Amino acid sequence: MKYKGLTGKVVVPGDPEYERARQEYNKAIDKYPAVIVYCFNPEDVANAIRWSRENAIRLRVRSGGHNYEGYSTGTHKLVIDTTFMKDIKLNIADDTVRIEAGTRLLPLYEYLYKYGYTFPGGTCPRVAISGLVLGGGIGLSTRYLGLTTDNLLEAEMVGAGGNLLTANCECNSELFWALRGAGGGNFGVVTSYKFGLQKVNKVTLIQLRWDNNVAARLQFLQVWQKWLPHLDRRLSSFSGIYKRGAWVNAFFYGKPEEARRILAPLLAIPGLTLENIDYVPFIDAVKTIAAMYPEREAFQTAGRFVQRQFSLDELEKLISIMDRAPSDRDSSIRVYSLGGAVRDIKTDATSFAYRNAGYIMAITSSWESKAEAPQHRKWVNAGFKYIYTITRGSYINFPYSQTPDYERAYYGEHLRRLRRIKKEYDPHNIFSFPQSIKPRF
Ligand SMILES: Cc1cc2nc3c(=O)[nH]c(=O)nc-3n(C[C@H](O)[C@H](O)[C@H](O)COP(=O)(O)OP(=O)(O)OC[C@H]3O[C@@H](n4cnc5c(N)ncnc54)[C@H](O)[C@@H]3O)c2cc1C
Repeated sequence: MKYKGLTGKVVVPGDPEYERARQEYNKAIDKYPAVIVYCFNPEDVANAIRWSRENAIRLRVRSGGHNYEGYSTGTHKLVIDTTFMKDIKLNIADDTVRIEAGTRLLPLYEYLYKYGYTFPGGTCPRVAISGLVLGGGIGLSTRYLGLTTDNLLEAEMVGAGGNLLTANCECNSELFWALRGAGGGNFGVVTSYKFGLQKVNKVTLIQLRWDNNVAARLQFLQVWQKWLPHLDRRLSSFSGIYKRGAWVNAFFYGKPEEARRILAPLLAIPGLTLENIDYVPFIDAVKTIAAMYPEREAFQTAGRFVQRQFSLDELEKLISIMDRAPSDRDSSIRVYSLGGAVRDIKTDATSFAYRNAGYIMAITSSWESKAEAPQHRKWVNAGFKYIYTITRGSYINFPYSQTPDYERAYYGEHLRRLRRIKKEYDPHNIFSFPQSIKPRF
């Protein structure tokens, strides 16, 4: 039998579940894998790797399926999927948690909050821990608690030979270094993670909107870039501009009165249409932001690291890009704060190469019908081409297939070391995808 040797739940073309199983979060990804194997344990993963080799069918690794470019799937590929590996084991005695690879963020936040813990994850409820932490991981706690990956203590991974490896600071330490920023799909299938945890009770949830206020966009970008370098690290923000206005979403690990003082330069931008600055249980803040995400959508995005202040002329160019957007609401330029705790760690301590950047800037557009796709893609591409000239480095968790010299863009000065590690752990390059690390010196 063709699928002999595969264990776990096997879904193939023709199965009633195949159509659902082949989908990614991004509806614009339309791939037809040869087999999807849902693994329940590391042994299923090892069997899948072996099967891939024996049947000469290349593999892809998938957890939450949120990769923007669909690099966790592929036509005629074997997709190794960890969706059903979602066990969470908390150790209250030492404030650590062990999380299986397929765990999605909202259930994780909910579980940990029951025991009084926060988690430095992202904002989308359905993104899985794997892609997030292996690419760095930013969110609304980042400046206070660091990247998701900065809180990682250990990972277990099934390697290219089907062997189970433990990676931490003592054991397979080079691999552990590589996994913290460049781990997605490059070295093996990570099956579980151990994280250190911090306690939390309430946070201040901040939501500001300047709707139907085109003048606020430039003012927002001007304030943002002056405000961020001196910003209290207890505040992290995902904000942006769109064709008709601007917005700010943020968490502040402190009380609203103090948050208001910190936010003063933003609150001074005229024409606010929404001003929520509320002290709420952490989990309520998480859920309010999570509720903004659709279940799935068709989109194109590219994310770059911003390393310097922009001139007025550069900011005005960004506004003019926004003016040409194909959608009033669903096209935007977004900014994601870094700094604070992200800079406490030395750049060469993990493979996340752009720790010293001020923030990430992404250009994104989403659409409803296939016919609209070309104009949205064209706009993102034109905007990216300009943003590329004023930024340095790309965020691997916001990948873009048109990025020139992608390995250098994602990994900067860490590329040589990553290639060496790639060669050691995956010499035959079985873990590959269109923008994977190539095993050469
Ligand atoms: C709506 C939305 C919101 C987002 N919000 C945030 C955010 O707030 N912060 C942020 O930092 N990012 C965010 N992202 C980006 C997100 O972090 C990345 O897309 C992430 O890689 C998704 O992980 P995943 O496991 O869900 O996706 P997948 O597509 O399953 O995997 C992503 C990559 O990791 C690899 N991979 C998956 N599982 C494993 C594994 N077990 N072992 C080894 N490699 C594996 C895949 O091969 C692929 O290359 C968001 C994305 C979307 C679509």
